[in-house]
Amino acid sequence: MAADLAGVSRLQYTSEMRLIRVMCSGRVDMAFVLRAFLNGMDGVFIGGCRLNECNYVTHGNYHALNMVLLCKRILEHIGLNPERLKIEFMSGADANVFVDTVNGFVKRVKELGPLGQGEGMDRHELKSRLAEVSKLVPYFKMVNQEKLASRLQNPEEYDGLFPKEEIDRLFSEMVSYYIDPEKCQACMTCLRRCPVEAIVGGKGKIHVIDQEKCIKCGTCFEVCPPRFEAVRKLSGEPVPPPLPEEKRTIVRKGKEKQEKS
Ligand code: SF4
Ligand code: SF4
Repeated sequence: MAADLAGVSRLQYTSEMRLIRVMCSGRVDMAFVLRAFLNGMDGVFIGGCRLNECNYVTHGNYHALNMVLLCKRILEHIGLNPERLKIEFMSGADANVFVDTVNGFVKRVKELGPLGQGEGMDRHELKSRLAEVSKLVPYFKMVNQEKLASRLQNPEEYDGLFPKEEIDRLFSEMVSYYIDPEKCQACMTCLRRCPVEAIVGGKGKIHVIDQEKCIKCGTCFEVCPPRFEAVRKLSGEPVPPPLPEEKRTIVRKGKEKQEKS
């Protein structure tokens, strides 16, 4: 709205920006922000309605604010300047605020230089770090669920919502899930419930988690029947190598006996 009014009022604002309209700033997922950086954007700016002026009960602008505060810490953790991400709140009548904010933001991003290059990171490293954290977005959201729903009233509290040490710990104590080949009974429950098809298995086959695809949602850990307890949750420790494919067939005791006789 403020961008529209700026246009109608013939206010000059940067042309080095690609505008994407969304119904609510709360609709901007952390995955979208990281994808924009992965696609080569040097900065991401989110404009939201003023806090406490949301017309709906959802107060999506608070969600957007919390997401930005968390995402800034994640950018910082992977070596990117958090100033490349900015959120500002304004009403539809604040055309001047919009223009000043985006012009100032673009100026700052130019000072920082191209993404990665400004931080002394090569392109390959930049892409791999961004791809790695993008994959972990569901995990970050799950772990920070409560904080992401908070409504801080005082901007002085923003910095403390996601303390740097806490985010560093989140990475160093990152959980992983592993299927114990000695316990898996190939019931296929986890394979059916995994939201990203990260579990390799089949009838009579010991199941294995593809760590590259796993988003650490913990569903497999929750759904593996208690009588098997085959899924282990590992925290800050290396995941054992997957069982070689040729050793994944489960030989049931009864069958083993039949084969011997
Ligand atoms: S934690 Fe389990 S269910 Fe969730 S993505 Fe990883 S393998 Fe799939
Ligand atoms: S739910 Fe448990 S027992 Fe069943 S296939 Fe998965 S890991 Fe194996």
